[in-house]
Amino acid sequence: MKRVLTVSITVLSVLGIALYLNRGEISVALMRRIAAQTIFSDTIGTLSDGLHVALCGTGSPYPDPTRAGPCTAIIAGQRLFIVDSGRGSADIIARMGLQSGRIEAVLLTHFHSDHIDGLAQLAEQHWVAWKAKTPLLVIGPPGVDRVVGGLNEAYALNGMYRTAHHGPDVASPSGFGMTAQPFAMSDGQPSAIILDEGGLRITAFAVNHEPVRPAVGYRFDYQGRSVVVSGDTGKSDNLVRMATGADLLVHEAISPRLAGVLEETARASGRTDVAHIFRDPLSFHTPPSVAADEATQARVHALVFTHFIPPLPIRTLEGPFLGDARERFSGPLFVGRDGDLFSLPAQKGPLQVQNLLN
Ligand SMILES: [Zn+2]
Ligand SMILES: [Zn+2]
Repeated sequence: MKRVLTVSITVLSVLGIALYLNRGEISVALMRRIAAQTIFSDTIGTLSDGLHVALCGTGSPYPDPTRAGPCTAIIAGQRLFIVDSGRGSADIIARMGLQSGRIEAVLLTHFHSDHIDGLAQLAEQHWVAWKAKTPLLVIGPPGVDRVVGGLNEAYALNGMYRTAHHGPDVASPSGFGMTAQPFAMSDGQPSAIILDEGGLRITAFAVNHEPVRPAVGYRFDYQGRSVVVSGDTGKSDNLVRMATGADLLVHEAISPRLAGVLEETARASGRTDVAHIFRDPLSFHTPPSVAADEATQARVHALVFTHFIPPLPIRTLEGPFLGDARERFSGPLFVGRDGDLFSLPAQKGPLQVQNLLN
């Protein structure tokens, strides 16, 4: 018995040493397998018909190691749309298996930096990783052409280098960059249908993000299901009107209490300028309790918070962030996280939720 034990320990030790000495090669083999599973994975191809919402960025302008900048992907059947592209969101899109070559259009809600920081990276992935032959389409209110034109110019030299290096078959000059498509929406106009075909209707609607004007949210209607993305907004009657009866409302949120903690900290450090940065957003964002009231008023079925101001570095801050929102809205209420996928089966069926990054 003692001899068997000694032999077993010796064999295990030799195996352990062999694994340790070959750890580099074992890692390369693992990398090969992980790459095959991730680089070309296609989440959309696996989804059943319906309306799906993928959170590709739930952060805000503040540095946040756990959340990319604002980004919400909408999948209607097999059609992929991206609402806003904040910093790092192209990484989340790729990690969720949402192939950027499938993007039909990016829809911008407004032109604050946090909503466009990731656009160029997304356009680059769309172009080179997926051999696009036409530029990434970017739809938005008037002004989108100026944003897209500026980014195209900033990345023009990069485009020439890539084509020269990879060749036009891989990096075709015709697929470089983005094309802007502004939709008409005059001041005071409450909403505009920007796409209505193939059973999918997308409606842009004005929200309240003064002094940013225009600023819009989007409503998606497909196969009897509906999703509304608030964009950046303070309390908005027009949002309530447009969200009426929606299956899912994806709403931005600011916590006056937690933003106040940061403001006080900045003031105590003698940084009144930074204190302003923490206080000013209260005028054009929505506290969770108010968004919950609006969701109740609009009779939406489920509410998801995104665009967290301030960031929540500790998970236990979610309670203080939400305040009494859960008491004010009786339906399912979610604290959105990067990688969350919400699925509404066509016509009817319960909301399904999973996280594709876990
Ligand atoms: Zn924002
Ligand atoms: Zn904004």
